[in-house]
Amino acid sequence: MTEIGCPFCNPLERIVKSNSTAQVILSDPRKIPGHTLVMPKRHVEKPWELTAEELSDIYALIFDVEQKLINGKLGDGVDVRQNYRPFMQQSKLKLDHVHFHVVPRSLEDYIYAVSEKYDTELFAELDDDEREAVTKLIED
Ligand SMILES: [Zn+2]
Repeated sequence: MTEIGCPFCNPLERIVKSNSTAQVILSDPRKIPGHTLVMPKRHVEKPWELTAEELSDIYALIFDVEQKLINGKLGDGVDVRQNYRPFMQQSKLKLDHVHFHVVPRSLEDYIYAVSEKYDTELFAELDDDEREAVTKLIED
């Protein structure tokens, strides 16, 4: 299934690598050199609607790309991130087609310098009420 107007359903000339059900493109715009996107070929908007085969194919590509980015010296490590934000409008910076960001990282890199060094204020101790409430919500 493809979605009309979805740039990730038919990224043809942008595909760097693919397997049976997943594909890799370079993020454009990108946060840092080597910022890569891995996604299913099929238009899927909710990550929990990915099939087991798609997840397996996506992670096979993520792990391959991670190693190549590190071996190619684009980073000493890698962040892998998937955002589900249905509250945001589609734009050049937000597409509904599920995708995983693979971002090379190094100590005190550009992302750290302009953003993450300010993130320390976001962390708070987990109190017992919150631990119990969230655990109850998630556990079966
Ligand atoms: Zn799509």
